[in-house]
Amino acid sequence: MEYNNLSSNNQRCATIQSPVGPATAAADSIYCQRCGQHNEANNFKCTRCGFVLHVPAQPQYTVTNDNTLGGLIPTKNPMALWAYYLGIFSLIPMLGLLLCIPAFVLGILGLRHGCLHPEAKGKIHAWVGIILGGLCAASYVIFLVLPLFTPK
Ligand SMILES: [Zn+2]
Repeated sequence: MEYNNLSSNNQRCATIQSPVGPATAAADSIYCQRCGQHNEANNFKCTRCGFVLHVPAQPQYTVTNDNTLGGLIPTKNPMALWAYYLGIFSLIPMLGLLLCIPAFVLGILGLRHGCLHPEAKGKIHAWVGIILGGLCAASYVIFLVLPLFTPK
């Protein structure tokens, strides 16, 4: 999040004062692209306004983005992610009747995928799908199917 803000900030400043930037960047001194303050070339931020003078290289923040996303959302394990969402939506009455079975099945598939590819993660999401899907399926069987077969 923070990196995205910085990069968009830098792009905006670069378009405003682009003639100043490249010419001075090569020397030992550097001029702030935002306020024009003279800075040492090895200053990370502008001494006057705190504007980041040295933009981190492109690969660095794509990697951190991937790591933070992979930690929270299993982007490489879509089955587990689907199981998670279907499991949550299967808590909705009647809609759950349609969603609990696919949530359960996708949860098992996602869990197997997570075991075969540990870097894909998503085991927790898969388990949520299995448990919620399984609970909903069981409760629908108990409340809807069983009464049909019990004598009154
Ligand atoms: Zn500045």
